[in-house]
Amino acid sequence: FLSEHCPGSAEAELWHGRPSTMSDKITANKVVTLAYTLRDDDGEIIDKSADGSPLLYLHGAMNIVPGLEEQLEGIGQGETIKATVPPEKGYGPRVGEAQEVPRHLFPAGAELAAGMQVLAHDDQGGQIPFFITGISEETVTVDPNHPLAGETLHFEVTVESLRDATAEEIEHGHPHGPGGHHHH
Ligand code: ZN
Repeated sequence: FLSEHCPGSAEAELWHGRPSTMSDKITANKVVTLAYTLRDDDGEIIDKSADGSPLLYLHGAMNIVPGLEEQLEGIGQGETIKATVPPEKGYGPRVGEAQEVPRHLFPAGAELAAGMQVLAHDDQGGQIPFFITGISEETVTVDPNHPLAGETLHFEVTVESLRDATAEEIEHGHPHGPGGHHHH
């Protein structure tokens, strides 16, 4: 699991490390590989991990929605669970309304597409996420709601593998290596 683009991770592994075993359970600071299917209330598939390309996340670091993270606590490698996650523990309830803003407020040449998340700056120097829901020649429609806000999420999740996170991954709050972040 050591990756060349993360200097220092070899030491971290030795310091932190005990080898993962098949009897391990998901707890804080485990790096977990999941295959998942997400359905809505009607049983329609909304999202699904691609075959051979499972989701990698660091447990306890809010990499995934809180309701799913909670229900994965204590689950072992190879196990499959169904987890129903209400909006409050998923992408939140719907708040506010979509609005059309002039196209020129976005950087010239920015490639905009429906479904993209963009960050707007507020007066206090904070950042407010918006989701693009429509684009025309002159305007862009932005919605403060995540596309899945207000939805109850029905997950079916298989824990494909898990291992101890390195000290560096814990510090960064996300996993490294294949399927993880590659920003080093
Ligand atoms: Zn990192």
